[in-house]
Amino acid sequence: MTRQPEASFHMTPEEFRRRGHEAVDWVASYMERLEDFPVRSQVEPGQVRAGLPEHPPRQGEPFDAVMADLERVLLPGITHWQHPSFFAYFNANASGPSILGELLSAGLGVQGMLWSTSPACTELETLVMDWLLELLDLPRAFHSSGAGGGVIQDTASSATLCALLTAREQASGWTAHREGTPRELTVYCSTQTHSSVEKAVRVAGMGTDRLRLVGTDADLAMDPQALRTAIQDDLAAGLRPCCVIATVGTTSTTAVDPLRGIGEICQEHGVWLHVDGAHGGTAALLPELRWIHDGLDLADSYCFNPHKWMFVNFDCDAFWVRDRAALVRTLSVLPEYLRNEATTSGQVIDYRDWHVPLGRRFRALKLWMVLRHYGAEGLRHHIREHLRLAAWLEAQVVAHPDFLLAAPRTMNLLCFRHRRGDAVNQAIMDLLNASGAMFLTHTKVQDRLVLRLCIGGTHTQQRHVEQAWALIQQAALELPDAG
Ligand SMILES: *Cc1c(COP(=O)(O)O)cnc(C)c1O
Repeated sequence: MTRQPEASFHMTPEEFRRRGHEAVDWVASYMERLEDFPVRSQVEPGQVRAGLPEHPPRQGEPFDAVMADLERVLLPGITHWQHPSFFAYFNANASGPSILGELLSAGLGVQGMLWSTSPACTELETLVMDWLLELLDLPRAFHSSGAGGGVIQDTASSATLCALLTAREQASGWTAHREGTPRELTVYCSTQTHSSVEKAVRVAGMGTDRLRLVGTDADLAMDPQALRTAIQDDLAAGLRPCCVIATVGTTSTTAVDPLRGIGEICQEHGVWLHVDGAHGGTAALLPELRWIHDGLDLADSYCFNPHKWMFVNFDCDAFWVRDRAALVRTLSVLPEYLRNEATTSGQVIDYRDWHVPLGRRFRALKLWMVLRHYGAEGLRHHIREHLRLAAWLEAQVVAHPDFLLAAPRTMNLLCFRHRRGDAVNQAIMDLLNASGAMFLTHTKVQDRLVLRLCIGGTHTQQRHVEQAWALIQQAALELPDAG
């Protein structure tokens, strides 16, 4: 049977209202049920797909049927990142206002590539990026009222790539986009730097043989003297140092590179300094942790992820540059079909020129909702609470005869290990993660396997951290070869 021409398969606003309420109810009840689930998904590879039809539906299905499959098939295959006992990796915390901001953004369905394709999308983004500078007390040079400015990117990886591309253009005398990447450009980061830097070097066509992994001090922070030596060696060999990437809160242990010492060396040699604060940046909400950014005034660009520890659900990376003209000059290509009066007037920001994709979501909305819901006071309260819990756990570990700290705690990540060696630590972690009661991950410090426990969940409270510590001690006792 064919439908009438005026018939529609679309969901009507009335049905959307009803189903939308149901979906929001579902999310609210998911938040309430979180602790009933094993933190890490327990499914075997292929299990989720095997629970679903192999072929797409020929006819549309009722909403109820889809929601039933969400519960029956997908939920068992979910690792519950919002579970209060999720201590793995770094958090990707979400929050009520952020989720609602995401919903409203999808409802508006805006594609904000140009100012003129939705002025509010651009102007709200510029505003909240300026707000963040104030909240974190970041350098004024990044503020949109001067030569700098901020933009929301999907991830820190993308932000770092844009910084590196701009550094590459500058170091090549603005010829790299036309002639390709000169082989003599070199890039510097520490041995602890996130893998996204190597990926950016690959994408930028610089060659990973031009990436220098600079040594660290005993606390795993970049050693500026080693950086200076590496730069001098390259200069002596006829190479051209182009960019240094420093980290505020390394992924492995949240080590903080000394930005001032690094920045002075960069200035001496005219090298671009990009600072990656993906996880750690959020700590600067607290005046007592602002030391992590000492020397950031010497940086050319900076990024951090509100989508890790600042209650904005993935994805949301905040990226600033000191000289927005350099970034735009690197990435702007203006085809005829995007020409418009506002762009030509030079009075507006077109964020399409600030990152790799053309199209862009209205991400500023969820960030704005979070900042307005919590206020500086609310954000500071919760970040301080995470830090208090991390300090509590640190004290337990230090006081315990069988466990020891494996790296200094700079913020909300604790790196520690059982004294009896790698196999025991691996077994403790495997046992706990398989139990579903909590989820933690590992790293290596000085070639030793170390447990990593990050306390940054939206719903994580003292009792969850106390329970985690009790479970860790119990696991250590229960191991046949560790008891
Ligand atoms: C998590 C992390 C990244 C990568 O973050 P994405 O936003 O997922 O690209 C980069 N750098 C550091 C230091 C990180 O901890």
